[in-house]
Amino acid sequence: MKNVRTRFAPSPTGFVHIGSMHNVFFAHALAKANDGDFILRIEDTDRKRYVEGAVEELYAMLDEFGLTPDEGPREGGKYAPYIQSERMKSGIYKTAAEELVKKGNAYYCFLSSNELEELKKKPEYKNKAFRSPHRNLSKSEVEARILKGEKYVIRLKVPENEIVAVDDAILGHVEWNTDDIDDQVLIKSDGFPTYHLAVVIDDHVMNISHITRAYEWLPSTPKQMLLYKYLDYDVPIFAHGSLVLDPDGGKLSKRKGNVNTRQFLVEGYLVDAIKNFLMLLGWAAPIERIHGEKEREIFSHEEFINMYKLEDRQKTNAVFDRNKLLWFNQKYISTMNPEELEIVLENWLEKYAEIENELKDFVGRDNALPAKLELVKDRAKTLLEVVEGIQFFYKARKDINWKIKQVEKFAEKLSRIGEDVLEFHKSLDENSKEWAQEEWVEGMKKIAEKHGLKTGDPFMVLRIAIVGSPFSPPLFEALKILGKDEILRRLQNANYS
Ligand code: GLU
Repeated sequence: MKNVRTRFAPSPTGFVHIGSMHNVFFAHALAKANDGDFILRIEDTDRKRYVEGAVEELYAMLDEFGLTPDEGPREGGKYAPYIQSERMKSGIYKTAAEELVKKGNAYYCFLSSNELEELKKKPEYKNKAFRSPHRNLSKSEVEARILKGEKYVIRLKVPENEIVAVDDAILGHVEWNTDDIDDQVLIKSDGFPTYHLAVVIDDHVMNISHITRAYEWLPSTPKQMLLYKYLDYDVPIFAHGSLVLDPDGGKLSKRKGNVNTRQFLVEGYLVDAIKNFLMLLGWAAPIERIHGEKEREIFSHEEFINMYKLEDRQKTNAVFDRNKLLWFNQKYISTMNPEELEIVLENWLEKYAEIENELKDFVGRDNALPAKLELVKDRAKTLLEVVEGIQFFYKARKDINWKIKQVEKFAEKLSRIGEDVLEFHKSLDENSKEWAQEEWVEGMKKIAEKHGLKTGDPFMVLRIAIVGSPFSPPLFEALKILGKDEILRRLQNANYS
């Protein structure tokens, strides 16, 4: 096999759609599984879609996900530049299009956008692949119009009633009739190439071996196959991966939930969990073949790359089940040891977390952080929930609401119970680390007996006074970390009304 070279060829639209991330993840794996190269090429010929800072955002996400390219605008490489608007300066796209005109596979079309719109309304143009009335203008008429300064585009001259086919590595044989294919614009009136022309030329020039992209690009393929043929290029291997659909059906769109890769990080999803989730969308892990295992869902990126083969990709659509992603995230958080989680959390606080700065500072310089993380990591589904779970250590809640069902049946005794809980904690050793759990439980039980309560009731009062909520990590462990002084302070300040 020739050197495997795959590419990610995004338009710089400003954010990285999670569906693109899914696709690029596979493109990268295919290259790496075969000791090949992974290339980033920016397809910015549609100037209307260009967004400032978009390339930086692409790099930020690729680096974060361990998908750093071997060649690209930042890395450089043999085929630089890797940004199409810069590549255009050498005239490669225009020259190729003119070459196609000469060969009779493309033509100048002088229709203005208004004329085009009007034309497309006519019955003879409806429900048919577009053919411009300028398809067969004579050479002299074309020259005369150009001389007059008329604006033009160059269109592909799609042949009548021919079969165009691709043998897709995932989908198998797919074919189209050229009568269903528009005379695609190749060079726009602003002189920029369209995506179709530029992508074919660049993939060829950059020696791309596999075009791995999402299924939604399949309709572009026949146009591109014609271009490969007319430009006399070898056809690379095409591999259109499954579409990732919203659970409600249809495209994964931002109307139904977040689709911005960065936003998943902001919300506290771990890169490893997202990657694990993405790899199982449209890929059947060949675990039996490799490990003799039957069921397994947790894979590291490295394991994935080591076992990745194009033939294990699935044709069926995949569903972006957000609950499953959350499941992976929780799994990854809970299986990390506290020291590993601390590193991940600090990275998150520094780069992505949108929480109060004060809290970021507290968490960021806390030697006792691993001990606190140990208490919450098994239940938190996101890093945000991790921080929410430990934030009471740093900030006492001032607005505790005592009018809740957990204490309502003994509401009138609340302040007396609180008083006794305070006195009891005053009596404990100065060094909270030395506290013995049995002694502490005994003391709290006595308070329950004294007030004719259930055993758990005084614990609930203590929990709410300390944490500010009826839910907390294991209370005794949390108290030991918080320390006697702070416990007493919170119990003293508790306003039980
Ligand atoms: N520039 C296209 C995009 O925005 C690339 C499609 C392809 O991979 O051919 O995704």
